[in-house]
Order: sequence, then C-alpha cells, then structure tokens
Amino acid sequence: MKESAILLCDDVTVEFDGFKAVQGMNLKLEKGELRFLIGPNGAGKTTILDVICGKVRPTGGRVTFGKVDITKKKEHQIAELGIGRKFQAPSIFPSMTVAENLEIAMRQKRAVFATLFAKMAEEERARIDAQLTMIGLQKKADWRAGGLSHGEKQWLEIGMMLLQEPEILLLDEPVAGMTDKETGKTGELLHQIALKRSIVVVEHDMEFVRNFASKVTVMHEGKLLKEGSMDEIQRDDRVAEVYLGKRRDADVSRSTA
Ligand code: ADP
Ligand code: MG
Repeated sequence: MKESAILLCDDVTVEFDGFKAVQGMNLKLEKGELRFLIGPNGAGKTTILDVICGKVRPTGGRVTFGKVDITKKKEHQIAELGIGRKFQAPSIFPSMTVAENLEIAMRQKRAVFATLFAKMAEEERARIDAQLTMIGLQKKADWRAGGLSHGEKQWLEIGMMLLQEPEILLLDEPVAGMTDKETGKTGELLHQIALKRSIVVVEHDMEFVRNFASKVTVMHEGKLLKEGSMDEIQRDDRVAEVYLGKRRDADVSRSTA
C-alpha cells in the first residue's frame, strides 16, 4: 500500500560525466522494514544510498521520504528530516569515552545552550544508558572510543546515529572487517533497530544476508535486477548469471563474503 511506504526511489538516474552509475532505479521501503541491497561491485548500491541521503544529486527521477519530495534537498536538510547515513569508515571521536561520544551525538539534536553547561538531566542519562545496552557497550562506557575493537566502533557509531532519532538508517557494508561473532551481533542489532525504524543495508557478505535478511533487492548495472526473499533470489537465473559471470567468488549460492 502506498500510504505505508516511508521511502520511494522512482526512476532514479545518476550520471557521472556521461557514465550512468544508476539507470532508472526503483526502490520502495515500507515502515519498519529491514531491506538488504546486494549486487556485484559497481552495481550502483553506494550511489543510490548517496542519492537518498543527498550526497549525490540524481540527474533524473524522484526520491520521496514519507510525503516529502527530497530529490533536491541538501544533505543536512535530509538528515534533519530523519534519514541517517553511516559510511564505511566510522566517524567517532577516538580520544573521548564511549559515553561522551553518545552524549555529543544526542546533543547535536537539541539546543547546545540548554545542555552545554548544565548537568545532564536524568532523562538524558537514561537515554544514554539504554543506548549503551542496546549496542552492547554498557561495560565499556568509560573506555576511550579509540581503544574499542573495529566491530565495537561500528556499533558505537550506530548508537550515535540512533540518538539522533532517524526514521530511516542507511548502512553501507556495516559488517565489513568484523569477526563472525561481531557479525552475528550486528545482525541481531539491526533486527532490534527495525522494530522502531526502517533500514536499508548494502551488503556483500552473503552469509550475513542469508542469516538476517527477509527481503532482498538485487541491483545490477545501476538497475533493479530482482527483489524478493533470499530463497527467491538464490533460485533466480539472472541473479546467478550476474554473480557467476562477473565474479565467481561472489556466487550468491555459496557462503563467501
Ligand atoms: P557499488 O556500491 O554497487 O559497488 P557504486 O555505487 O560505488 O557501486 O558505483 C557504481 C558505478 O559508478 C561504478 O562503476 C563506479 O565506478 C561509478 N562511480 C561511483 N562514484 C563515482 C564518481 N564520483 N565519479 C565517477 N564514477 C563513479
Ligand atoms: Mg559500494
């Protein structure tokens, strides 16, 4: 149903010096959905996330967030409207503690004056504690963020994003470089987040996609190739051809990263 779509990419095209990185891409995200976006290298996955968050202006098509046309809005406006983007490299403050990083993220959302010199209100403390628990870092609240493992840094950044209360989270290969255990915890975290928010996650770790995805969108050469459950995706001949033909190591029917 159209009313429940929180995000709509309609016939989106992106050209870089005449090269079409995205060609007429359509994507419809329902409220509370955790959508996995996959496809071979160069398929246009990162570019479509760039379009949604306003980092790249499309040359054609339209992006709608709820009822708002965000196609021509600036990156900071889209962030304020409620779309949060996590890039591959974490943007945390390494010399500050985990809790301080979360405090900074929370305060970005409200008037700096009100909170800067004041003692943190009870309610704010509670929000930080709840966030620490959700990302599994409650025991490391006083650690320097720079001393966290790679996976923990990613979770901290996700926690920082969540404190800004986005309705949609865009994540680009969040489990890249994580251990198997960290990857599993990340999958659970995404499911927990999706109880309240909508998520688009670009991923090429097929094991991760198989374990945690319900609906998968496959992109190829800037276009939508196939959408469906992981079972449907794995049974699709065109999908197999795209992966087998281009990169045997990324065969979707096997569990390689
Ligand atoms: P994916 O994330 O699926 O691997 P990308 O969205 O990063 O793919 O890239 C899609 C295509 O667009 C690739 O061929 C890439 O080389 C090209 N591309 C991406 N960004 C730019 C840019 N800023 N300028 C020129 N070409 C780009
Ligand atoms: Mg990419």
